[in-house]
Amino acid sequence: MAQKAFQAEVSKLLHLIIHSLYSHKEIFLRELVSNASDALDKLKYLTVSDEAYKAIAFEPGIRVSFDKEAKILTVSDNGIGMDDKDLEENLGTIARSGTRRFLEALAEDVRRTTNLIGRFGVGFYSCFMVSDTVEVLTRKAGQEAAFLWTSDGKEGYEIAPASRDGHGTTITLKLNEEGQEFLSRWRTEEVLKKYSNHVAYPIVLAYEQDTYDDKGKKTGTERKEEQVNAASALWLRPKSELADSDYVEFYRNFADTDEDPLLWMHTKAEGTIEYSTLFYVPAKAPFDLYHADYKPGVKLYVRRVFITDDEKELLPTYLRFVRGVIDSEDLPLNVSREILQQNRVMTNIRNASVKKILGELKTLSESDKEKYEKFADEFNRPLKEGLYSDFANRDALLELVRFKSTSVEGWTSLADYKVRMTGDQKGIYYISGDSEERLRKSPLLEMYRRQGLEVLICADEIDELVVPSIGRYGDLELKAVNRAGAEEDLGPEAKGDEAAEKAEKDLAPAVERIKKALGDRVKDVRLTRRLAESPSCVVVDEADPSLQMQKLMKALGRGEGIDVKPILEINGSHPMVSRLAGTEDEDLVADTAEVLLGQALLVEGASPADPADFVKRMNKLISRQ
Ligand code: ADP
Repeated sequence: MAQKAFQAEVSKLLHLIIHSLYSHKEIFLRELVSNASDALDKLKYLTVSDEAYKAIAFEPGIRVSFDKEAKILTVSDNGIGMDDKDLEENLGTIARSGTRRFLEALAEDVRRTTNLIGRFGVGFYSCFMVSDTVEVLTRKAGQEAAFLWTSDGKEGYEIAPASRDGHGTTITLKLNEEGQEFLSRWRTEEVLKKYSNHVAYPIVLAYEQDTYDDKGKKTGTERKEEQVNAASALWLRPKSELADSDYVEFYRNFADTDEDPLLWMHTKAEGTIEYSTLFYVPAKAPFDLYHADYKPGVKLYVRRVFITDDEKELLPTYLRFVRGVIDSEDLPLNVSREILQQNRVMTNIRNASVKKILGELKTLSESDKEKYEKFADEFNRPLKEGLYSDFANRDALLELVRFKSTSVEGWTSLADYKVRMTGDQKGIYYISGDSEERLRKSPLLEMYRRQGLEVLICADEIDELVVPSIGRYGDLELKAVNRAGAEEDLGPEAKGDEAAEKAEKDLAPAVERIKKALGDRVKDVRLTRRLAESPSCVVVDEADPSLQMQKLMKALGRGEGIDVKPILEINGSHPMVSRLAGTEDEDLVADTAEVLLGQALLVEGASPADPADFVKRMNKLISRQ
């Protein structure tokens, strides 16, 4: 049969894997076993859920064997198998979005490869690291026809009709120099144990052992077989029997990673609804955390039978970084997605699981602040989404979310902010925008800083949605500093004295003229006392969306008609403004007006409507005597 070419990306992937991952070449075995286990899961599920497959009786298992003389290693399973079409799609192209991202990430920084292999399963193609040629002999369950896929991992592959006893897949590797070490019982067993100990099906290793007579003389060899993995559903074993290392090893295998988890929680619920859950919080955010098509991290089992790993509703979206297993005693095996979403048992498990996870996070935040900071670095943002979407757990989430602040390094909680509050402080102040650095320099903070008032810095895109929606923390109101009227809260310095009041009166006509000069680009122009050093700032009206919110809405394509104009607030005690009192110089007023608005927009990360005009007027002002 004619050779078919690999999809271009496959060739690229093969090249990259072979050349950059060879120091981790043993992972090919993990990948092959994991594929075999998936194939067994798929068939087992069909036999319990689909009439057409119910007649198939099989004892699921994975077998690894090698032949020292022929330099061959095989990994065989009696799972779902593939037909010729499957072979072409699965082993000739890159169907998975994960692999594509892996490639993109690799292209960005080849040096990070070794960290990346943990985070992306590199899959079947990794066996070309250790092989000259690879054969895949496979027969799909319920079909007679078998096929043989062959490739040297260079340009392409061939698919030919073949025969196989029973359904399943046998992968035969003709090992190259790099692969010779796996022709050893101990080496292969070590790798299988390391990565695949808790694969749910037995992995049997077949090997040859020399036989000896009484006098210690070699008499020949005999073939032996031994199950090398624990093959237990770890989550069903009592906690008392499990060591930390068991949990860590299971996680590494489960999440396809070399990293340790940050935290795990193992629960067995007995009572009206019986289930077991084992959840892990990873140390690092999954690469697809912010992709709309992220892969859910929780697998659903019903009485140890794998049901799905593609159900996003098992936990709320904001907990999509959690990895683990839910195993229910009470769901039907052929539970469909629709049933799952409305099922009382599932709702119960889900609610209890969320409470458990949030509770454990709270405990961590109290017992190990340093670890919790690490957690916040990775997962604070998704938790904040929860504030917006999970009203029932809002109070718990409010204790878990963290903020940057003008008063402390690193993260702070709302509770800690409260402790630091000064006597007559009116609420919790925050400033929101899209750059932490810019926010920290915002003129809006000047008076707060001078008065020793702490302001939370909210620079996440979603803060624009989330933080205003919080409303209150206990009896404290959350107050945005970039809103009109916020200076009401500031201390006596901002309130001004008689002299300040007089100066403001004198400036009133100039303010009117500035307003006129700026026309409909601003909603209002007014004097403010919230600024200490800067001459001007822009704020939005209490009920209007902020500038960042407007940007966000536009980016979401929902920006129609939300062009809300800012209010320009100016600092009467700044020389640039105070010199306008009583002036007749229209040019000076017009230039100053444009520069006041332009610079206030610039510090907010927006730009003046006509930058060239802004620069011209600024230069005019600077050159003026
Ligand atoms: P992944 O397993 O992460 O999807 P792989 O490159 O390892 O990616 O495998 C690609 C696809 O080939 C799998 O998704 C699966 O459909 C198919 N496949 C691989 N190995 C087997 C196997 N032993 N039995 C059945 N199908 C398999």
